[in-house]
Amino acid sequence: MSETIQQLFDPERFRTLAYEMTDLLADYLSQLQKGQLHVNEWKNHDDLFKTWRSFLSESPSFKEISSKIIADSIHLHHPHYVGHQVAVPLPEVAAIDMLVSFLNNGMGVYEMGSAGTIVEKLVIERMCQAFELNDGSGFFTSGGTLANLTVMLAARQSKAEDDIWEKGSRKKLGLLVSDQAHYCIDRAARIMGWGSEGVIKIPVNEDYRMNTDLIPEYTEKAKQNNIKLVAIVGSAPSTSTGIYDDLESIAAYAKRYNLWFHVDAAHGGAAIFSGEYKNLLEGAQQADSIIIDTHKMMLTSALATGVLFKSATQSFSAFRTRAQYLWEDSHEEDWENLAKRTFECTKQMMALRAFFLFELYGPELFSNHINYLFDLARHFHACIDRESNFENFRKPDSNIVCFRWKDDSRTIEEINIINKELRKAVLEEGQFYIVQTILDQNAWLRVSLMNPMTSEDHLEDLIEYLKQKINKILSKDVT
Ligand SMILES: *Cc1c(COP(=O)(O)O)cnc(C)c1O
Repeated sequence: MSETIQQLFDPERFRTLAYEMTDLLADYLSQLQKGQLHVNEWKNHDDLFKTWRSFLSESPSFKEISSKIIADSIHLHHPHYVGHQVAVPLPEVAAIDMLVSFLNNGMGVYEMGSAGTIVEKLVIERMCQAFELNDGSGFFTSGGTLANLTVMLAARQSKAEDDIWEKGSRKKLGLLVSDQAHYCIDRAARIMGWGSEGVIKIPVNEDYRMNTDLIPEYTEKAKQNNIKLVAIVGSAPSTSTGIYDDLESIAAYAKRYNLWFHVDAAHGGAAIFSGEYKNLLEGAQQADSIIIDTHKMMLTSALATGVLFKSATQSFSAFRTRAQYLWEDSHEEDWENLAKRTFECTKQMMALRAFFLFELYGPELFSNHINYLFDLARHFHACIDRESNFENFRKPDSNIVCFRWKDDSRTIEEINIINKELRKAVLEEGQFYIVQTILDQNAWLRVSLMNPMTSEDHLEDLIEYLKQKINKILSKDVT
């Protein structure tokens, strides 16, 4: 390198590079909106790795590297991106992220991130208010997976009737959750040392919601196996199907059996801001804890998860670590020293993204976003219903729809193979991006409508496109 490190801190150099990046991204966004690119350019990973080796051998510039990264990435801002449930961030969130990265305040203690700490509290207050958690409190953490683990640690400390933090675990503990929940709940229980026995999975009913009628039976079984249940987790919604559990019913059972009631609203918590769809979260007001990923349905980049607790005191119970070099009095419940309550020590100023959006546009932004995408999913569902060779899995609650190609003259094995072939062909051609899932042991196609630039027309084009692909597959007869 020819520059000194000191030269790299030159403000004018930063100005030039940051403008270059902004121009690149604005042009990219414009290209995507005009439909000039595919949603992705599929390449085998080994082949792609080789192209990178030769690309780097020519000492590319900042701009050339940035362009190659864009070209080899999946394009979330493409209106044909209807795949996984990652937010398509508002473009201006990238500008906010520049501030987050530049300031790089560590956030563990108040003095290492005063503005970030205040902002975090303000966003948490907005979220608690929306859920009517009037004595609520909370913090932000790095993703729903870590948020669920953190909450389960608090539940354990609150309900296990042992001081596990000090003395270790002596009882067998467990939690109840639907068998359609996100895998990270299962993982959290195993990390806590509860083993597979400690994750008691309640089957879903015909609607694909947790079958809450089975809760007494599963509670009794746990008791017979000497497992002390500490928590019950409702999914809002579950990941594969986008269907919300009946939270009111779960809340009633949680009360009856003295369980910690946690709502995993990583994906669908933002529906609380929608007049039209907040009823899906009915019952969440009674939760001991709720988590919401702002990088799912709140238009921000990853990772940023709000963790809400009904009681401020409980929000401190996951970790009771002493760290004299950080805090003078380790036992005080001081909201401003965030690392007392989070897994992270150094933490990104992640709440800034949602904070700006709340302050600039109000909660109506999230309400409009949810309404548009949830309505769009209903439209897609209706279109699929009209097709003789496609079928829906269930009526969508949210913006996730599972469906598949069908043909009554074929066996289910053949239909599974053809649907998998179809999804593979779509991925490799790159005109649309959809995903697949397994439900009732069979292959289904799945769309998550995440992009506000996706219209009804785009989805109708998707169905026509799938029909063409199917004809091609059938003409080769892969079965
Ligand atoms: C996405 C999701 C998670 C995992 O959150 P990450 O932020 O990806 O770690 C957990 N639960 C549900 C219901 C989700 O939708």
